[in-house]
Amino acid sequence: MERRPHNDPLFIGPDQAQSACKTGAPPEQPGTGAAEGRRICLRIAVSVPVRETFSYTIPEGLSARARVGCRAIVPFNNRKVTGYVLEEMVQNSSEGLKEISDILDPEPLFQDKLGHFFEWMADYYIHPIGKVIESALPGGLNMNPVKAARLTERGLSLLDGLPSNSDEKKLLSWIKAHPEKRPPWPLQKIYGLQKRGLLILEDRMKKGRAGPLMRKFLKTKDHGELEHLLAEGADSLKAKNEIEFLKTILDSKGILLGDLTRKFSNGLYLVKKWTGRGVLEAFIAAVYRDPAGKIMFPSAVPVRLYDQQRRTLGHIRECLDSKSFFPCLLHGVTGSGKTEVYSRAVEYAIGLGRQAILMVPEISLVVYMEGFFRSRLGNRIAVYHSGLTRGERYDQWVRILKGDVDLVIGARSAIFAPLPRLGLIIVDEEHDSSYKQEEYLRYQARDMAVVRAKIEGALLLLGSGTPSIQSYQNGIVGRYRLLSMPDRIENRPLPDVEVVDLKAMEDGQSESEMISPVLREAMDQNLAAGNQTMLFLNRRGFHRLFLCRSCGKSIRCPNCDVALTYHLKEDSLKCHYCGFYSATQRKCPSCGFDGLKAYGFGTERLEQELKEMLPGARVARMDTDITRKKGQAIKILKGFSRKEIDILVGTQMITKGYDFPGVTLVGVIAADLSLAFPDFRAGERTFQVLSQVSGRAGRGSQKGRVIVQTFNPDHYAISTVMSHDYRSFFEKEKKLREQLGYPPFSHLASLRLQGNGKGETAEVAHSLGVMTREVLGRWPNRGKEVQVLGPAEAALSRLKGKYRWQMLVKSKNVSLLHHLLLEIERISRKLLKSSGVGLISDVDPYQMT
Ligand SMILES: [Zn+2]
Ligand SMILES: [Zn+2]
Repeated sequence: MERRPHNDPLFIGPDQAQSACKTGAPPEQPGTGAAEGRRICLRIAVSVPVRETFSYTIPEGLSARARVGCRAIVPFNNRKVTGYVLEEMVQNSSEGLKEISDILDPEPLFQDKLGHFFEWMADYYIHPIGKVIESALPGGLNMNPVKAARLTERGLSLLDGLPSNSDEKKLLSWIKAHPEKRPPWPLQKIYGLQKRGLLILEDRMKKGRAGPLMRKFLKTKDHGELEHLLAEGADSLKAKNEIEFLKTILDSKGILLGDLTRKFSNGLYLVKKWTGRGVLEAFIAAVYRDPAGKIMFPSAVPVRLYDQQRRTLGHIRECLDSKSFFPCLLHGVTGSGKTEVYSRAVEYAIGLGRQAILMVPEISLVVYMEGFFRSRLGNRIAVYHSGLTRGERYDQWVRILKGDVDLVIGARSAIFAPLPRLGLIIVDEEHDSSYKQEEYLRYQARDMAVVRAKIEGALLLLGSGTPSIQSYQNGIVGRYRLLSMPDRIENRPLPDVEVVDLKAMEDGQSESEMISPVLREAMDQNLAAGNQTMLFLNRRGFHRLFLCRSCGKSIRCPNCDVALTYHLKEDSLKCHYCGFYSATQRKCPSCGFDGLKAYGFGTERLEQELKEMLPGARVARMDTDITRKKGQAIKILKGFSRKEIDILVGTQMITKGYDFPGVTLVGVIAADLSLAFPDFRAGERTFQVLSQVSGRAGRGSQKGRVIVQTFNPDHYAISTVMSHDYRSFFEKEKKLREQLGYPPFSHLASLRLQGNGKGETAEVAHSLGVMTREVLGRWPNRGKEVQVLGPAEAALSRLKGKYRWQMLVKSKNVSLLHHLLLEIERISRKLLKSSGVGLISDVDPYQMT
């Protein structure tokens, strides 16, 4: 298949995205009565796993309704499927093209710019275009085909002659009466009748459940008459509250019938009376299920802005005024007042007649931001994330589409919000890895925000206290405008960060393997002073870390420079990038000390130990094991903000943007857990997480204290956190990435194989490795520009019953990488089909496990 090459993903134009998709007739399509000459056709993405889009003609009766952004029912390989209209175009000949069967939506579900965006994504992530759109649109729209039966002439004539109580008569009469429905008999029985030519079975579409909630409203029909009646105080207004009743309706543009009957006990009677006289009329309209509820965290507008906020806003306004694509990176330390800047930027954009998207990494942060922005902007806000029900998502989508909303706040799926006049996209905590979707359509919402902003001609504002290496590098080379807010507001000092060397902790010196005497003492003092503590441990349940007791280093892969993963069951160490394998050893390869040892850590055990150690303290834990239950995260956060909890233990979740002024002590139990992660981003993640968690301390009037426990006090990711020195960390990390050729100095894709059989999956993985290297061998020059690592058993070698292997491909040239991925997909099809092993390609992968 011929494809347009990719440029740098973050700097590709919509024009290129458009032409990257091919158009043609679907396979195995017999020609239908084609008209001569030029004709308007529709380019449609079908919701089947194919890469191409297809052209269809429009029958007379549908031409008024067929518009870009509508769903259509189209014939495809002798079936009927849902399709999405992407483009109207004139074709010289419509020969061989089929007609669309139906248009499902009275109004388009997305604008053509959003259509370009979908196509760009499909192309970049090598995902079927119809499936991209299907997963972007709110659920509940998709149609499921059902088998419906229709009687033939022969069936109809037979029906008349059948005895009245025979089974066949019952069946055929039912079908005659219900031509669009699925007959309530086993299909086997129906097939028999079809064979005899009595009926035809057809696919019919069943409507998805979600749709707007329709309610009855009341409004005035004859405005003048009503005003006249009220002015006269006419005799006909007999009931006591009749004047008030009519005034209520007169003052409204339309009022819910339910609200009227609640307010007026004789409401129904009055409605009947006045609609009968033609003064009032009823109408049906959609209402929106508001998922917002009440404001949780109202926020007062500050009297004045700080200098750094004013300066930053000045730049942002300048960019917004230009009404064109402008990418900015706002590097603002925790507590520097970024949210206030976001809020003013949104207000400014709205003032210019444009709309905004604000993305945050967690659903619980959406709630926080929603409260903040509702108190500032009122109700022209929509929230959009996967935590909403299908109906709520649908309602929000329609509100946004209609332009009833100025700001959409959400997690990563908010990037699809169909705002008609999008002018600003803010990605808060842009470095956060939860912007990467790890299943199905594997996309990075932060990266896609760049693409969407470019397509829409919008300002992109990425914000972070610890920018990703990739974004900061873009700032350094001038692709992004770098804005910085280096100080905390009110000149609050950054917290002191102390490091405790866990290597120095002797066995039995402390009650717990996880809490050093220094941290224990600090916790006691903090409790006695009535202040709150946060303890951070980046591992749920229980985890073992294998490292040297003398130098603190873990053993790293000689090929890939990522940490080897310790496998307790086999007592071995493995590299999950290239497959390097080693037996565990006692002797340290770094310092020669004879004392490598496995340490155990986990949040659940930590919570348990704390409860035993400090029986008077109120301890709570927050990790995904706990917060899987709906509403649980909010409950814990509320309790903590009301000071009903003294010590909050948690994973990554507690490090994100919350503002708890009562927290004066933050403890990091084992910084090494993230350092020893088998991932080239381990250093970056460690720095980010430690900075974020430190930033939780001392946000109120009292100075904060941070204690970081680690086996590696000298590691640059830890020493630079102590000195709050992002720039030094960046320079060091950048140099390492450059040397090893990891992103942002190369592009990476992972190919993951998953199968039910252990041996079989391994075998397919090895064959795929051989095939991939053969492909590269056939490209004598360019082939050398791609590096293949593995295949290797994945760090999580078994997940949900599936055996897992992975292969990494790496290249400086992104178009070459895409070319290779498409080629691999093509050549492996047969192998995968016969073995039943699944292949998932992940472009710009984050999870290397
Ligand atoms: Zn050592
Ligand atoms: Zn390796």
